[in-house]
Amino acid sequence: MSKIKSLIRKNDKSIPIAITSDSKNTDNTSLDMTSKSNTPIEQTRWNGWGNVSINKKVSPHGAKLIKSHIGTTNKLKSVSLQQVLKTVPKSRLPAELTDLNMVSTDQEVRLRHARGQSFPDWIAMHGGDFEVFPDGVAFPESTDDVEQLLKLAQEHDLIVIPFGGGTSVVGHINPQKGSRPVLTIAMSKMDQLIDLDTESQIATFGAGTQGPAVEAQLDEHGYRLGHYPQSWELSTLGGWIAARSSGQQSLGYGRIEQMFAGGTLVTPQGVLNIADIPASSAGPDLREMMMGTEGRAGIFTTVKMRVQSQPEQELFKVAFLPNWAAGKAVLKQAVQSNVRLSMLRLSNAVETDAHLHLGTTPSQFLAISTYLKARGLSSDKVMLTYGVSGDKAQNKLALTQFNKLLKQHGSVTGKLTDIMGNIWAHGRFKFPYLRGTLWEKGIMVDTFETATNWINIDEQMAQMQDAVKTSLADEGEDVMAFTHISHVYKQGASLYTTYFFRAAKDHAATLKRWQKIKKAASLSLANGTATISHQHGVGRDHAPYLVAEKGELGLQVTSDMIKSLDPEQRMNPGVLLEE
Ligand SMILES: Cc1cc2nc3c(=O)[nH]c(=O)nc-3n(C[C@H](O)[C@H](O)[C@H](O)COP(=O)(O)OP(=O)(O)OC[C@H]3O[C@@H](n4cnc5c(N)ncnc54)[C@H](O)[C@@H]3O)c2cc1C
Repeated sequence: MSKIKSLIRKNDKSIPIAITSDSKNTDNTSLDMTSKSNTPIEQTRWNGWGNVSINKKVSPHGAKLIKSHIGTTNKLKSVSLQQVLKTVPKSRLPAELTDLNMVSTDQEVRLRHARGQSFPDWIAMHGGDFEVFPDGVAFPESTDDVEQLLKLAQEHDLIVIPFGGGTSVVGHINPQKGSRPVLTIAMSKMDQLIDLDTESQIATFGAGTQGPAVEAQLDEHGYRLGHYPQSWELSTLGGWIAARSSGQQSLGYGRIEQMFAGGTLVTPQGVLNIADIPASSAGPDLREMMMGTEGRAGIFTTVKMRVQSQPEQELFKVAFLPNWAAGKAVLKQAVQSNVRLSMLRLSNAVETDAHLHLGTTPSQFLAISTYLKARGLSSDKVMLTYGVSGDKAQNKLALTQFNKLLKQHGSVTGKLTDIMGNIWAHGRFKFPYLRGTLWEKGIMVDTFETATNWINIDEQMAQMQDAVKTSLADEGEDVMAFTHISHVYKQGASLYTTYFFRAAKDHAATLKRWQKIKKAASLSLANGTATISHQHGVGRDHAPYLVAEKGELGLQVTSDMIKSLDPEQRMNPGVLLEE
């Protein structure tokens, strides 16, 4: 017990260090959440995640745990930026476009808009085989600019790719080989709050505004959007709407569908203004129809978002429960009985163990494990992270109701777990940086996710994990996999699986391994009761599996709708629907 007390004291002082208080493992910089404009693309990694000045270290015993599952690893060699720049071909854009100030054909600009953040994108960026680059990148500053660009695209028969933050993990923004030149339209200069109607609580933004700039500009007026995907640092309003994103606090603030009220979509057939009316029974909902179009119907230029006052108080906490069944029961009962929490996230036992390893030094791990064991929890224990956001009285009531549920199901909570909640909250946008750190060690990591009804949750989780774990059996390779629930609904929940595997001898062979895993993972979801994606969208990687969810007729309806706005198939063809 004295060890625990000293751990708490140590961590009390060092929460900003997040995952570990061991000086050898400290991360070098904190994220800046206060900037009112977007992060300039030059400040981001050209071949990986996030801001170049930020790194996240992995605890040695966390890496050891992963290797105990997958075996010893070898690092893949990475090419340099200079090497890749030499492979960027001459632009095919006509002079009428290249003469515009808003269009760049600079090789590095084109390279930085050629790939997103999917596993194949990382392989391309590190192996140097980008295959295709956009012929140019436009940086419009207004709806008029976007209209002009689409008009020129039509006149010169160009392919157009709308680009938000480029954080897609499913191949949304990658140009394809073809005879038509490719113009990527990057929305990064449309990053400002344009209007705030405090009476209706509607904020109008440029659609290219990234997460931190959205919140910093609203915060100045005492408002909040509350959309926090893990990619928040770089992803944008337009990308969230176009790919139907979901943030970590979706339980309290809603998914992007609940936040998006309307706006302007510039399509090849003209400008579609979606009125921001609170509710309507006037036929099919255009707002809903345009969400999730993934750049195929047009480009969102300004978007109207439902915002709310800054909460008086926001808290994040952690509890441990004896096993998955107990944790799941708590989640289900809390959401179905309307306990007003802002988030619920339940890690299964393997993920709980991995997080405890990755987030601690060996001595901290031992202390926490001993403490939890003394409180009656075994290796089946699961970690539940939860939060409240609102006025203090409302939060107090929600926590009282939730604590009752936790107790009924044998939870362990206390000062230590409260500290763990703070640590999670402080480090939550830094987790993506771990991917690069693990990559450097030859540990490949990727994720996939779904949602299904409560009645299917356990079977679906087992299928997802089994599928990926056995997918490399023909090569004698082991894959480590674990899962959490991170978004809950009365009807069901999302499941998010993370998996680790070893890099093969080179980039091409490693990509082949990933393709096998991805196919097995996708087939485990294409069963008619789970979605191919709860929050990452369809892109190119999920398009072949969409039919299981929508049916042939459903795909036909979607295709017809898109063609009515883009008859020449100019906008991001091949994304969402295979064509
Ligand atoms: C580390 C990491 C963590 C992630 N975590 C989450 C998460 O927690 N929740 C979640 O929902 N997603 C998550 N994602 C996925 C990704 O961030 C989302 O899909 C996000 O919505 C993409 O936004 P973006 O601005 O980067 O769009 P991009 O990647 O640039 O584009 C995505 C799609 O939207 C289209 N698009 C972009 N802007 C516009 C526009 N203005 N008008 C029309 N179409 C447009 C593009 O053409 C493309 O088809 C994560 C990704 C990474 C890399």
